[in-house]
Amino acid sequence: MTTAERLPSAAVDETTWDRARAGLVEDLRALIRIPSVNPTPADAPDGELRAARAIADRLVDAGLRPDVVESFPGRGNVGARLRGDGSSGGPLLLLSHLDVVPAPTAGWTHDPFAADVADGYVWGRGAVDMKAMIALELAVVRRLADEARAAGRDPAADPIPGLTRDVLFAATADEEAGGNQGIGWLVEHRPDWLRADGALNECGAVATTVAGTRLYPIGVAEKGFEVFRIRVRGTWGHGSMPRSDNAAVLAAEVIRRLAEPGAPRLTPVMTRFLDGAADALPGKAAAGVRALASGDVAAAERALDALCDPMYARALRALVRDTISPDVVHAGVKYNVIPGEATVEIDCRVLPGTSHEAMEAEIVARLGPQLAAVCDIEPIIGAPPVEAPTDTPLYRLLERTIRDHDADGVPLPVMMPFATDAKHTAKLGVPTYGFSPLRLEPDERFLERFHAVDERVGLDALRWGLPVLYDVVRRFCG
Ligand SMILES: [Zn+2]
Repeated sequence: MTTAERLPSAAVDETTWDRARAGLVEDLRALIRIPSVNPTPADAPDGELRAARAIADRLVDAGLRPDVVESFPGRGNVGARLRGDGSSGGPLLLLSHLDVVPAPTAGWTHDPFAADVADGYVWGRGAVDMKAMIALELAVVRRLADEARAAGRDPAADPIPGLTRDVLFAATADEEAGGNQGIGWLVEHRPDWLRADGALNECGAVATTVAGTRLYPIGVAEKGFEVFRIRVRGTWGHGSMPRSDNAAVLAAEVIRRLAEPGAPRLTPVMTRFLDGAADALPGKAAAGVRALASGDVAAAERALDALCDPMYARALRALVRDTISPDVVHAGVKYNVIPGEATVEIDCRVLPGTSHEAMEAEIVARLGPQLAAVCDIEPIIGAPPVEAPTDTPLYRLLERTIRDHDADGVPLPVMMPFATDAKHTAKLGVPTYGFSPLRLEPDERFLERFHAVDERVGLDALRWGLPVLYDVVRRFCG
């Protein structure tokens, strides 16, 4: 018997799916209409709490007994547990964050908090980051609860028919500011919400069309971050008599040296991603990807220019090296006073294998002895990279389920250039995968929707994703 014959599939029962899909879109729109903005605005400090309560209401409607906790004033989190019989092991966690980044209305085609449906999209802040995934996870949970009720069981107390693991749902506050007031608090105070054999989170399994081939990069790793403040010491003086040790001039040189892209280093995950993509793509594109994987910087740069639009090229460049982005610069007090000090803050994103100490040493080396001698380097905040294994039944199932729902699709493990709440689940040892399945149109510019004006998600992409996520849950937990 092949695995395909044994696995339950969502392909049956289209009417039920149509209803679930309609509910999913309405849930997403309702969530977008609650501006759960982070940092919390003074005039609406409880957006995350309102979003948590709205989700709790939907879960109660489905017969569940969710918990809402306020980790800090106005910072809401909502969690629920669906029981399995435990015979397959620990729970599967469906994880999401409730907060969104601010959305000044200027430049938007549709009001960012109106959740308009137009031109095949749901529009609004959070449509991709990440209320679409909340709505997908909610729809799966509600469907499981419906199945329990249809079998005469109480979904809040009885095992769900066929579930051999618990399914946890957790939507948390504060991810957009590092998560310490949301999931970070839960790790400390309510780890029972999060402890699981595996977690599904944002940013992965989103179709990316390259040379006509749909790749589905599944997030299995993410870079760490190390933020430093560099104080540059110059000499105060009169602006009428310029000095070479003007702190602003020195800071400009600091920035120039640090902003230069560093040497590439391919991690095992990125090697696997590039090799897998090269195997899947047609001839010329495959050659380009192989050049990226070769370690030859000039060949890689030519390949990036030829192969990708700048959006993907930026991401790929960042995924094969430690990066430094100088993002804050302060110097000067008056136009005719030569500044004696300047401050530069840099955002370093580090690959697995690069330690805090190694990153700091790299900064000093790049500055060179003379410049380093007038700089004080102070670490501000940081978190290490995280990786989840790919040799697990859950990871193999994620790939397998993508292929079952898109026969031409190519699932691949990938690293994310940015941080997510996986940094927090890692502290509990929960392998966390970026898996928010969406089958996007070939010309969709998904990476550019994050935190941007006119954030939106395609209705068809969402509709495709629901049975994919349901199948993953049913197969892993059944
Ligand atoms: Zn997000």
